[in-house]
This record gives sequence, structure tokens and C-alpha cells, in this order.
Amino acid sequence: MGVEEVQAVIKKALAEGRHSLLEPEAKAICLEYGIPTPSFRVATSSSNAAAAAAELGYPVVLKIVSPDVVHKSDVGGVMAGLSSSDAVESAYLRIVENVRAHRPDARLIGVLVQRMAPESTEVIVGSVKDAQFGPTILFGLGGIFVEVLKDVAFRIAPIEERDARDMMREIKGYEVLTGCRGSPPVDQDAIVSIILSASSLVTENPQIEQMDLNPTMAYERGAMVVDARMLLSP
Ligand code: ADP
Ligand code: MG
Repeated sequence: MGVEEVQAVIKKALAEGRHSLLEPEAKAICLEYGIPTPSFRVATSSSNAAAAAAELGYPVVLKIVSPDVVHKSDVGGVMAGLSSSDAVESAYLRIVENVRAHRPDARLIGVLVQRMAPESTEVIVGSVKDAQFGPTILFGLGGIFVEVLKDVAFRIAPIEERDARDMMREIKGYEVLTGCRGSPPVDQDAIVSIILSASSLVTENPQIEQMDLNPTMAYERGAMVVDARMLLSP
């Protein structure tokens, strides 16, 4: 997939009247821009899901893929930490049942089967469009840091490497990234690379109105996006 194919994915979604990309579409676009995410497949039956999991390797997470479900956990559409083919098959059926119960009219495309990213320091990288300045880039630590403390750094896109490093250092919780209280330091270069790729992504694809790479797991070596949400406007 090249940048033209990324545009094709976005234009197809808009032509279908969708205002958000499906998670597998958003993650394929991430990979195209060099933003790492664990390997994944889309399954359309429980046995299909088990076969995908065997191929990817355990543990895996299963998540509903539907154009009508943006917040998957809210409708029982996510089951994580699955370690056997039986667990995967029953999770598949359970997820479909949950989503049907919460949203009888939701169109179901399938279920995403993804390798579990090990737990780690969670950060978020995102973008929102400002009416005046266009796409902006946001960086913060995950969880309460962003939700309660609003500890985030913003820049107008496109940004350069120096800006990405400044963003990381200017959040109040920066010490969480350098290693403190028994948690190891994280790979800041890997985070900078994701911030820069996110900047290129939203700059080159102006239909992306909002993007959330949340959570992004940061490790001592590397970082991986676990959930990718992209909202569109024509
Ligand atoms: P939602 O649409 O509800 O935000 P997510 O894709 O964020 O759904 O999944 C919910 C939670 O499940 C995530 O916040 C994360 O904690 C966990 N999770 C999802 N995918 C993975 C993964 N590949 N590896 C590890 N944990 C995951
Ligand atoms: Mg999420």
C-alpha cells in the first residue's frame, strides 16, 4: 500500500457514507506510514478467528469490526488476553452476541484478531483539526494523565523532529518516560518516530478530521499502537 492506496481507502469509506475508518483500515494506514501495530487479521467466523490466532500466535485480542461501532468496549466488543483456540472461538461468538444485544442494527464486518501487545507505559498520539490552523498533533501519557490531568502537548502540523522531542519533554509527566519508581525508561526515539509519522499522515491525508492512536504502548525497545481511530470529513 502506498500513499495513493491510503487515499483509496479513505475515499472508499467516504463514498460509502462512513465518517470513520474501520480499525483494520486505520491500522493498515498506520503500517503504511511506518507506525507499528501488532500483526492482525479480520475473521468472519469463529473457526476463521481460531485459525487466524494460531497463525498470529497467542495471546490475542478480539475486537468487533463494524462501521456503526466506534467505541468497541462500550458494547462488549473487545475480549483481550485469549490464549487458546477454544477461548478464541467462544470470544468470537460472545462478541457478536454482545454487539447484537447492544446495537441490533449494527452492520457487522467481522472480528479483528490481533496479537496482544504486552502491557507497558501507555502514551497517546493524536490529531484534531483546528478551524484556523488545520491539523494539530497531540502527545500525552495515557490513562489519567490525559483524561484527568489534561497533561498534553500540542503543535500545528507538520512538525519536525525537534518539535516532537520538545512535545515529549514539555509534558508534566515526562519523568514517567525517563524511568521512575521501578518502571523502566521507554524508547523515546520510537515515540518521536510515531509522532512524526502521525504528522505526515494527517498532513498528506486532509480528510482525516481527528485521529487517536490511543493507547500506544511504549517499551524499552520500540512502541506499538494498540487502538487506532480515524474520523473523516469529505
Ligand atoms: P475501544 O474501541 O473500546 O477503545 P480498544 O481497541 O482500545 O477499544 O480496546 C480496548 C482496550 O483493550 C485497550 O484500551 C487496551 O487496553 C486493550 N487492547 C486492545 N487491543 C490490544 C492489543 N492488541 N494488545 C493489548 N491490549 C489491547
Ligand atoms: Mg481505545
